[in-house]
Amino acid sequence: MTDIAPPPAAVNADPAELAKFSALAHRWWDPHSEFKPLHDINPLRLDLIDRTAGLAGKRVLDVGCGGGILAESMAARGARVVGIDMAERALKVAKLHLLESGRDVDYRAVTVETLAEAEPASFDVVACMEMLEHVPDPASTVAACARLVRPGGHVFFSTINRNPKSFLFAIVGAEYVLNLLPRGTHEYAKLIKPSELAGWARAAGLQVDTLTGMTYNPLTRIYRLGNDTSVNYIASARRPA
Ligand code: SAH
Repeated sequence: MTDIAPPPAAVNADPAELAKFSALAHRWWDPHSEFKPLHDINPLRLDLIDRTAGLAGKRVLDVGCGGGILAESMAARGARVVGIDMAERALKVAKLHLLESGRDVDYRAVTVETLAEAEPASFDVVACMEMLEHVPDPASTVAACARLVRPGGHVFFSTINRNPKSFLFAIVGAEYVLNLLPRGTHEYAKLIKPSELAGWARAAGLQVDTLTGMTYNPLTRIYRLGNDTSVNYIASARRPA
């Protein structure tokens, strides 16, 4: 045989980003840590997903699951959850936490692109939260999520908008004034406008149904869902049946 195997496709991951999340991984389940915002927004996004897609009994994929805050909460609502992430230590923490919580989540260190090759159209629901702004090629991540969901299934993306207000709130405010997040967590150029996300989703064959804003009031320290998508937002999409 003279066939030569093609080189492995370039991995759509930024090693510096993964190192950042691995370094902090031991703090993932501390609700007062750098991950406090994820703990605080979790009930909101969990309810949005459950309301829209109905989690009980569904096969669900959590892309970029980190320590498993959303993954575990979806399992608690009766979903069979697979969680994937490329930050090794985050995944280790996610697995360890199952011993404490008694929940069941299938955690795997695999890229979403590789999983999409192996198990296309095999999930009822795919969630990819607060991750797109950390990858080199977010359009590729969106396309892989679209391949992984079954026809008629739901896909959710959340990320941060890119405009002067989001720079002020999500970067200056959150990282430099309120110290909600470590400095350098988010890079302005990698933030994503809803129109860009919607374009990638449509190109991948998804239909974007709704955009929901997520706002933070620094005085009350309360997060809410609503119409204001100028900073944080969640896109709810579907693969046509
Ligand atoms: N989705 C989780 C964690 C968000 S933090 C939540 O919302 O609670 C961002 C996560 O994306 C980190 O766990 C980081 O390791 C992961 N991530 C970044 N780049 C990735 C990539 N290329 N593939 C998989 N996961 C990635």
